[in-house]
Amino acid sequence: MNGIELKPCPFCGSDDVFCSQGPEGEDYVECWDCSAKVESYNGLGDAVSGWNARAIDRDDLLKVADECERADVDGVIDWAARNRKAVG
Ligand SMILES: [Zn+2]
Repeated sequence: MNGIELKPCPFCGSDDVFCSQGPEGEDYVECWDCSAKVESYNGLGDAVSGWNARAIDRDDLLKVADECERADVDGVIDWAARNRKAVG
């Protein structure tokens, strides 16, 4: 995508991430799957680096999912299962 490298979504792990420009000229990066969004008025590069700084590593994500499942906290089991599915 124009040589811009976007990391997977930090919230759902999806690779379905795109960048675009909003009605006020703001550039943003958004996840198709969960609508997580990072925007910037300082150019697309800024939005992208903001997104990538927010993204976490796939292994970290799996580790967090494991910990949540082990902890058996109400409400996070579904979240963990979703993440696991999203990152394969
Ligand atoms: Zn997402």
